Amino acid sequence: MPKGTRGFVPTMGALHIGHTSLLDAARDQSDETVLSIFVNPIQFGPHEDLSRYPRPIEDDLALAEAHGADWVFLPSAEEVYPLGLDAVRVHLPGISERFEGAVRPGHFDGVTTVVLRLFNIVRPNYAFFGRKDLQQCAVIQRMVASLGLDLDIRICPTIREPSGLAYSSRNAYMTDKERESAPILSLELSKLASGTCTKSFKDIEEDLAAAKRALSAVFEVEYLSLIDEETFREAEEAGTRQSFAAAVRLPSVRLIDNIQAQWPCPEDAVKKYL
Ligand code: AMP
Repeated sequence: MPKGTRGFVPTMGALHIGHTSLLDAARDQSDETVLSIFVNPIQFGPHEDLSRYPRPIEDDLALAEAHGADWVFLPSAEEVYPLGLDAVRVHLPGISERFEGAVRPGHFDGVTTVVLRLFNIVRPNYAFFGRKDLQQCAVIQRMVASLGLDLDIRICPTIREPSGLAYSSRNAYMTDKERESAPILSLELSKLASGTCTKSFKDIEEDLAAAKRALSAVFEVEYLSLIDEETFREAEEAGTRQSFAAAVRLPSVRLIDNIQAQWPCPEDAVKKYL
């Protein structure tokens, strides 16, 4: 590990084990770890949960310390946006308009703007993001590549509860009844992902339609698709680095999740080389 490297974990707080896994990775891979907590107003839509987003700052600081953060950066909106909230937007055409971007217009402009601004303040060598927000990872990697930013983006796995439900700060909004049905999302995604191994693309399209029906019995389904992880375009044939990605709504919460498709089949790949 080169000396003096700085690893950065940007978050909106209400830290859970998904966030601390990023801090652990940052600590293992860098000399100095910076965590930021900033509930970024410009990535929320007008009818979203900005005002009620959880802000348990004392618990967050204790977790940050326990996971070896050297610095916790808690900026005000004035520090992040010195010329005001409307002064600037970083926009990536195409990728930031599909899927999450279509359901939440302007969301990714808010994300890329804050992430670039935080990169400029923190000046990290590495920045750590969770696969849980796969399209966000793709958008940020594209921003880094297109602007030639001098840092590495490191993507870390999704951390899940034993039920399969991905940890999220917004899970706190769920009622007990919603908590019981929420794991169905990851269950359907993992069935789709493990099925790809032995199936044709046409079979997968049928599986997707069946999974959409199953999810619709429990949730309002916003999207469920097989996507290319780099471009976030809908897949039109089998390929590597593809994931099943979904967004669904329960009355109290919106859930997003994704699981990587398993093709080519690992066994087939091995056989080819025997
Ligand atoms: P947030 O505070 O929701 O903006 O998330 C901050 C970072 O934590 C983002 O890079 C997220 O993708 C990541 N993250 C959130 N939930 C999880 C999870 N369950 N597993 C891994 N990373 C996560």
